[in-house]
Amino acid sequence: MAPDQPQPSSSMKLAVLTSGGDSAGMNAVVRAVVKAGILKGCEAWIVREGYEGLVRGNLEAEAPFAPEPLPEITMKLHDPSFIQNLRFGDGELLRDGTGDHPGGRSLKGRYIVRVGWDDVRGWFAEGGTLIGTARSAAFRTPEGRLTAAHNLIIEGIDALVVCGGDGSLTGADIFRSEWPKLVQQLRADGKITDEQVTRYGHLRIVGLVGSIDNDMSMTDMTIGASTALHRICEAIDNINSTASSHSRAFVLEVMGRHCGWLALQASISAGADFIFIPERPPKVNPWEDELCEAIKRHRAIGKRKTIVIVAEGAQDSDLKPIHAEYVKDVLAERLGLDTRVTTLGHTQRGGRPCAYDRILPTLQGVDAVNALLESTPETPSYMIGIRENKIIRVPLMEAVEMTRAVSAAISEKDFEKAMSFRDPEFSDSLQGFHIVSELETEKKLPLEQRMRIGIMHIGAPAGGMNAATRTAVRYCVRQGHTPLGISNGFRGLLDDNLHELSWLGVDSWMARGGSELGTNRTQPDIDLGTVAAKFQEYNLQALFMIGGFEAFTSLLILENGRKYYPAFHIPMVHLPATISNNVPMTEFSLGSDTSLNALVDACDAIKQSASASRNRVFVVETQGGRCGYLATVGALAVGANIVYTPEHGISLDTLRDDVKFLKRRYMLDVKGKSEGRIVIRYDHLTCVLRLCLINACNEQKRGRIVGIYHRCHHQILKEEGGSLFDSRQASLGHTLQGGVPSPMDRARAVRLSLKCMAFIEKHHNLMLQQPTKSRSADRESAAVITIQASSVQLVPVDEVVAHADMKNRRGKRTWWEGMKELVEALVARPQLI
Ligand code: ATP
Repeated sequence: MAPDQPQPSSSMKLAVLTSGGDSAGMNAVVRAVVKAGILKGCEAWIVREGYEGLVRGNLEAEAPFAPEPLPEITMKLHDPSFIQNLRFGDGELLRDGTGDHPGGRSLKGRYIVRVGWDDVRGWFAEGGTLIGTARSAAFRTPEGRLTAAHNLIIEGIDALVVCGGDGSLTGADIFRSEWPKLVQQLRADGKITDEQVTRYGHLRIVGLVGSIDNDMSMTDMTIGASTALHRICEAIDNINSTASSHSRAFVLEVMGRHCGWLALQASISAGADFIFIPERPPKVNPWEDELCEAIKRHRAIGKRKTIVIVAEGAQDSDLKPIHAEYVKDVLAERLGLDTRVTTLGHTQRGGRPCAYDRILPTLQGVDAVNALLESTPETPSYMIGIRENKIIRVPLMEAVEMTRAVSAAISEKDFEKAMSFRDPEFSDSLQGFHIVSELETEKKLPLEQRMRIGIMHIGAPAGGMNAATRTAVRYCVRQGHTPLGISNGFRGLLDDNLHELSWLGVDSWMARGGSELGTNRTQPDIDLGTVAAKFQEYNLQALFMIGGFEAFTSLLILENGRKYYPAFHIPMVHLPATISNNVPMTEFSLGSDTSLNALVDACDAIKQSASASRNRVFVVETQGGRCGYLATVGALAVGANIVYTPEHGISLDTLRDDVKFLKRRYMLDVKGKSEGRIVIRYDHLTCVLRLCLINACNEQKRGRIVGIYHRCHHQILKEEGGSLFDSRQASLGHTLQGGVPSPMDRARAVRLSLKCMAFIEKHHNLMLQQPTKSRSADRESAAVITIQASSVQLVPVDEVVAHADMKNRRGKRTWWEGMKELVEALVARPQLI
């Protein structure tokens, strides 16, 4: 995901609305659009209650509102119009819910409202949509849209951002295509002037997809889907323990009328036993036999709980709906299981947005404003999506039509076609679910192709390590391989700490944080010869390492060791798992999403405390070594005011500017409405800061610097803040490893782990083709699995080295480069220093 380039400023008035079913992240969209709009010189407006608000418009004249006069600011203001926009909002108007506002602005009878910078502050952490949403019957009629057009023109709005599902985006496209006709009609009716016809002849419109179902084509993710998945997985994790205690079966109904994404990802992430989704009905019809057979097999080996997930729109191949209640009856009557149904319903929509649903809408909201500024009558209405981790624009109607084609294919029973409209990850995931959930013992490989595969965790624990191990073990069992868990990394191997893992033994590992195998940072060169001897002794025919930078360097050592030790001539693969996300060439490591969510949770709590005491700056210290992923992306996800990254470091000049920025920001807060603010810094910053203060002392011998160099970062801020703000520090340390792995990390673990297993088999089979006595592994057979854009690639370890900054233990290039500037832009740092 890359932030955008700055655009020229404009005098445009742009409005944003949320429509259809609400989804987490809609508030972040509004926040991003308002802030990006103001930064580009636009006036920002919101439309309350979706299209219904457009149709209702403003029934009363706007109550006069003038922001309080600017406080005495002694410094030079670069951009007075920006400061005015900043002062326009105080963060209370849309939050108090009563419509009355002590500052003189009122929402009563007003649906199209101008907002300022601070009106949207802190919106990140709120679920749903604070500007309201609705399903508007009136907007579906030509008369309703004519009134809506009139209302927009009266208020002088010339650009609209619509965030909603496919219905809302269809409405947006119809509105824009009809716009010239509507303007002519309004002129003919004498409702607008000729100047208005000229000024508002072209409506700029752009769509963002807010939908928990992830059902929109041409984008990999929709806003809110990720949070909904969090809610579902939390529920299933909770149900798992009670199901196991009572040896019960649970049938869970989740949302998804035409799209099984939520059900599928939840089934994978929560380790469910069976799934029903609309796009892929059960293979066997009647399906009841298939379900009972699968569950019977699990129970026969001692599994105490059963989880079946049913998407709202699930059906059999004759399009007969499959209801959770009926599935329950089948399990209870045929298998005698004590079965309960849980319908998650609207709990899936609610709650605080997860990290992804703060970052995605922010990046898309910023791009939406750019798209509006660049829009001409000739350009189509765009939908802002995400593909291959990059924000993209696609013609809105094409995306809507493709989405509708999926439902049409399902209703024509053409399930292959329906699946083909989903992205390749969807079918990968479905296949992955079957592999890890089915206890299949009849399809084992021929004896000579079976292997003894060592599985090891290396480095610090990271969310998803156990899920990856569970997946590998289940795949091994299915294929007839022997999965050998090596406890405590290479140290454990030297201590003969190995044991065979079983299908049932890893059943509960999906949702477990930490490392079930045990992990440490020991590298194989601690005693390479003995490591090779152990490989031989245990007849290891492949090695699967899950871990961070140390796992990568371990693989490198083993590959180099092939020159001397034949035991290393086996396929070896490294699956990156580290909260630092510092393994070169991969955009995401397992654990990187979990830690981001841990950071967001912690910062939400800290912000609450900071807001309660007002005027407090919290300096939050993250982990991440010398890699700025967690600090930078985390800062965007929590709306931090300042971020220090290892890549950018710190200097006395930056510190001086930061203090200046904070002071000006607090001075501009409306009296009594200040808020807590977050500064994110990486863990080694103190040493760097001390060093630069010592250097400054040495060079300048300035008493003041000598005075402060003993103090911590937050103490310097506190001292400089004077009466304006106070400062405290919070070091998040190991809490960032997260308790329970996020659904995204779990699903990723399954997908990547299966690809690693396929890689190992491929290279093993290649080696089998060589004469037994002189078998040697080629360089390609020691690889790191990487995510590059949307593709997964296994890259030989020596090639990864070329992309590594070995000294700083990180990649030479990172996809989050430039995000620091976006963090700073969204708090107006450049405008205020
Ligand atoms: P969800 O995915 O939650 O259902 P959605 O955006 O698809 O969200 P809809 O109820 O289909 O939800 O649409 C929301 C609103 O968009 C409608 O209430 C209506 O005002 C407008 N809308 C939908 N389809 C059209 C259309 N064909 N013409 C004009 N307006 C439409």
